Amino acid sequence: MNINSAINYGSKILKNKSIPSSKLDSEILMSKTINKDREYMLLNPNNTLNKNELKIFFNLIEQRSMGKPVTYLTNKKFFWNSEFFISNDILIPRPDTEVVIENVLRLTKNKNKINILDIGVGSGCILLSILKEKEYFNGTGIDISKKCLDICEINAFNLKVRSRLKLYKSDVDKFNLGKYDLIVSNPPYIKRFKLKYLERDVAKFEPKLALDGGLDGLSEIRKVIKKSSDLIKKNGKFVLEIGYDQKNEVINLLKKEGFYINSIQKDLAKNDRCIVSTKL
Ligand code: GLN
Repeated sequence: MNINSAINYGSKILKNKSIPSSKLDSEILMSKTINKDREYMLLNPNNTLNKNELKIFFNLIEQRSMGKPVTYLTNKKFFWNSEFFISNDILIPRPDTEVVIENVLRLTKNKNKINILDIGVGSGCILLSILKEKEYFNGTGIDISKKCLDICEINAFNLKVRSRLKLYKSDVDKFNLGKYDLIVSNPPYIKRFKLKYLERDVAKFEPKLALDGGLDGLSEIRKVIKKSSDLIKKNGKFVLEIGYDQKNEVINLLKKEGFYINSIQKDLAKNDRCIVSTKL
């Protein structure tokens, strides 16, 4: 079987299992199988695949047909300006989260050297993207998951920002190190009873630890706001990702902890997604 017919066959299998982007996914999985880019596949559609390659490819197709996200099959995801290494233990970076980066870059346009804390750093997609954009900024990332910190470290090396990054394994409650000019966070904020109603690929394959916001969806956000209030410098900025329906509750929590609300930003689907505030 050649490259082109395998891609088409794979795409058909995915389509039959109602995978929406079946052709694209099949192409990506072929690219992973033969370790060549899309251009190569387009230019060499008639190249024959050997037995081993076919086995690998159709194994990937089978996993995808059961809902496993392409990112977990290729172990990479592009976010902002870089490619991130992503394992099964890590929340897949979402394009919607890029609104956090946009805000940080806007707020720090005239700043040379600041200290940023990322609470729940995960893959590092937020913090490392910022460090890559701003070559004199320093970053600290904390996460409760050691596996996340290991992956974040790999990403930091890949993005060449490792020397400006400190990582700590810590619960948000227990972290008491330093004072920061800017804090960012994308904490888990999905209501526990809603987890099973998320899209199948998310519900079945992504880490609950990164999604589960407790009974009311706000239990981690509450902790993050409280801790940020202690760790942020006066007049420091706090950029927080929130659930589409959490704006009013989160505004109240922030005000209670002495933050002034600057703005609320929408994501690509026009849902409220990001709150920018200042510590008074
Ligand atoms: N935006 C993610 C989702 O909809 C949730 C991320 C989070 O809980 N921080 O799946």
